[in-house]
Order: sequence, then C-alpha cells, then structure tokens
Amino acid sequence: MNAHSNSSGQNSKVFHRQLRSGLPVAVGGRGVELIDAAGKRYIDASGGAAVSCLGHGHPDVIAAMHEQLDRLAYAHTSFFTTEVAEELAELLIDSAPDGMSHVYFVSGGSEAVEAALKMARQYFVEIGQPQRRHFIARRQSYHGNTLGALAVGGNAWRREQFKPLLMDVTHVSPCYEYRDCRADETPEQYGQRLVAELSEAIDQLGGENVMAFVAETIGGATAGVLTPVPGYFKGVRELCDRHGILLILDEVMCGMGRSGTLHACEQEGVVPDLLTIAKGLGGGYQPIGAVLAQAKLVDAFRQGSGLFQHGHTYLGHAVACAAALAVQRVIIRDDLLHQVRTRGAALQALLKARFGDHPHVGDIRGRGLFWGVELVAERGSKQWFNPARKLHARIKSEAMVEGLMVYPMSGTVDGVRGDHILLAPPFIASEDELAQIVHRLGSAV
Ligand code: PMP
Repeated sequence: MNAHSNSSGQNSKVFHRQLRSGLPVAVGGRGVELIDAAGKRYIDASGGAAVSCLGHGHPDVIAAMHEQLDRLAYAHTSFFTTEVAEELAELLIDSAPDGMSHVYFVSGGSEAVEAALKMARQYFVEIGQPQRRHFIARRQSYHGNTLGALAVGGNAWRREQFKPLLMDVTHVSPCYEYRDCRADETPEQYGQRLVAELSEAIDQLGGENVMAFVAETIGGATAGVLTPVPGYFKGVRELCDRHGILLILDEVMCGMGRSGTLHACEQEGVVPDLLTIAKGLGGGYQPIGAVLAQAKLVDAFRQGSGLFQHGHTYLGHAVACAAALAVQRVIIRDDLLHQVRTRGAALQALLKARFGDHPHVGDIRGRGLFWGVELVAERGSKQWFNPARKLHARIKSEAMVEGLMVYPMSGTVDGVRGDHILLAPPFIASEDELAQIVHRLGSAV
C-alpha cells in the first residue's frame, strides 16, 4: 500500500495524523448506525451535526454518485455547467418558496452564508445604495466559521479573538421563549416585543443604512433548538420591507426537511430574499451548500456589473450535485417529509415521557426531527450548571459509551454558558430506533 492509500482504513500512519486524541475511528455506517474500528455500533441521533438525513450507506445515493463518477467528476464552472447541477438547480427552484428563482451552489454552510452576505452587499452597490453597510443579526446564533459568517454569528466568545472582523454588525435578541418570554405576555406578544427591539436597532442605525437582517429560522448550534414564536418572522418581514432591508434566513441546519417542511420558513409564512441551505442538502454524502435568491438580486447583478462577483473552485461539483440530487429524490419518492412529521411527533412524546419531569431538564423544544434538550441545575430558577462542569460534553461522552451520538452545545446568554443536547436523527429512523435513542440518552444523562 503506498503512502496515500487508505483503503479499508488500514493505513494507520495517515489516519493517526488526522486523529483528535481519544476519538474512536469510524470505519463504516449503515442506516442510522456508525461503526468504529473496534466493531462498536453507535446510533447517529445527531445526524453528525444535523447532516445525515438519509442515514449512512444509502444504496440509491451511492449508485447515483458512482454513475456520476464514471461519467465526470469535475468541470470548472467558468467553462461548463453539468446536467446534474442543472437538474438539482431545477428541483431546488421548483420546490423553493415563491419568488425564489435562482440558486447558487457552494461547498458548505459557511460558504453559503458568506455568499449570501456578499450578494446582499453587491445588490445594494448595484442598485445605487452603497451606504447600506450594516447587518443586523441575533445573539445566540451560529452562521459558520469563516470571517463574515463569524461576524454575523451571535456567540461573542467565538468572535472575540478574531476581532476586528470585517463587517458592521449589530446583534439583537433571538427568539428564546423558554428564557425570555415573560409570564405576563403571550408568545405572540413576546414576538412583537422582539420585532420592536429590531425596529429600534434599525432606527438607531438609520433604516437606509442597513443591508440585511440575518437569522436562523430555527436556531441550532449555539443555544439548543430555538423555535420562533407565532408571528415573529411575519413581523420581521414587514419591518424589513418597510425599510428596504433584505431578509437572509439561514437554514443550513434547520432546513431541507429537518423541521418537517422542506424549508423551515414555510411554517412561518414568510419568504426571505436569500435562503442558505447545506448539511441535509447532500445528506453528508458530499459537501454541498447553496444560496436560493429572489430574482430581484440576480436581475440587479445582470443589469449592473453582469455577474455576482464571487466564486470558488468547486462550485456545483458534479459528484456533490449528483449526491444531493439523489438524496432529495429519495426524500420525495419515499415521502420522507411526512415521516419527519410523524416520527418527530413520536420523538417529542418519547422525550417528554422520559425527561418531562426530570429535575435537571428545563426545556424540551423542537420541530420535526430537530430537538433540543436544555439542562438546568434547578428548574424553578432555570439556573444553569456551573460551566466548569462541562455537563454537555460529559453527556456526549457518556452517550458514546452507551453507543449513541448526540450533539452537545453550550449556549451563551450575556456571557453565561448553558448546557444543551441536540437531537437530529436521520429521517429514516424507525420508532424503535427513536425509543432506543431516548433510552440511551436517559442512561447518559
Ligand atoms: N449556519 C448554520 C445555521 C449552521 O448550523 C452551520 C453549521 N453548524 C453553518 C451555518 C456553517 O456550516 P458549515 O459548518 O457547513 O460551514
């Protein structure tokens, strides 16, 4: 075997350099399970990081990728488009919210967010409003790790060491009903209060100076799953429209069926100007992401400088598009969005039955097959555990011992950290497998 070969995962020298100490070596995956080098099986209850929507080793996806590889792996987008890229684009546009007429492929979530931020900027330059330089985003949000995505991301701790970042960003409150909705207000009134806070932030910057409001439709990787309250996004959309501000919804994690509808924003009754997707788009079979855009943006580029001034070498990679196309076709053929809703309801019931009375579980929230469990030291005060105990990380480790993958998160509110566990199992998980997930999580907790 030469130095580059890693067939059967046997070249331990190559593997060793990549290993983080102490992690098991994944050597296989079938259905909802991953298998390590010692033969131990783990139920993938987090879909990695909300990625593996069809689970592992799906034969239809593998066949489609093989077929594409046999035909053509790579053609640079400045010379060619490919059939698979065009077919995937068509499928995504056909199923996109009304008015979203264009798709721009990238290789992952951060790239999608980065591209969306730049589209917003270029749009305003092209239409003669270059003074719009500010983004407004939310605290307790995650949009990726590249510099622009980091700048709009709401975790101050992640941003701190990389300052000064490239962009003007103001952060406002996210929708965090469990902690922030007051006892004397309804969820709808709470949503209106958040919209009023956003309105104030816009007024302070001057509405004519703001490019876009950036938000995850359902918050994911920083503070557990944060679901929006009724009416909140409608209020946000109206406010953006009033000031000519673009609405960028980041559905890298919560999108592509995870919430029970293809796009989570469908349940909010709003259409963004730009929508970022990734993770479940390719289901982990290949890295791929995309930005869906309203026609007005692309028209502005065409009438202005001609093109969106952006690009990466692997945009629309043919094998990545083939994988994503196959994943999305399986979801349609097997009516998996319906399954996400019914299995999601089953998972919710299982979680509530197991943890509803648990003294250290403050909140269980989610949509579809996207659930967060928030841990607290004391339910009455909602006080978090001492962060030094790193409870979320310990639960992740205990779960691995139990043969379960859950995604640990440490949210931050005003510098105080909390412990959350994220569940995002494959859409194909059976009710028995969901029951196993909750059982093993119970043992780990
Ligand atoms: N946006 C959101 C909402 C995410 O959850 C993530 C990843 N967790 C990203 C962007 C970044 O995606 P990637 O890691 O593929 O760059």
